[in-house]
Amino acid sequence: MGDDFKPCPFCGELSGLEIGRGTNDREGAPTWVYCTHCAAHGPWVYCSEDDAGPAVRAWNDRDQAKEVIGHLKTIDPKQCSMDTWNAVQDALEVLEQ
Ligand SMILES: [Zn+2]
Repeated sequence: MGDDFKPCPFCGELSGLEIGRGTNDREGAPTWVYCTHCAAHGPWVYCSEDDAGPAVRAWNDRDQAKEVIGHLKTIDPKQCSMDTWNAVQDALEVLEQ
């Protein structure tokens, strides 16, 4: 506990983040952070039942963000709706912080 989530890198939302858990096995339970707004999932990692900290840290690790930024920057505003374009701009703003 005590680990703070960073906002979703895809939609910028912080309020809809939840912890998902798989079935316990010997190493613990596969645990991940996911976004209820856009269905983005963080990487899953084994966590003990009462500590989702490693999954939160994996979610917060933004090394992958550069890849996502590269992809978002290839989106052509003439090829998508205004809503999509605005969402892309919001996501870039979060990612580039
Ligand atoms: Zn999201």
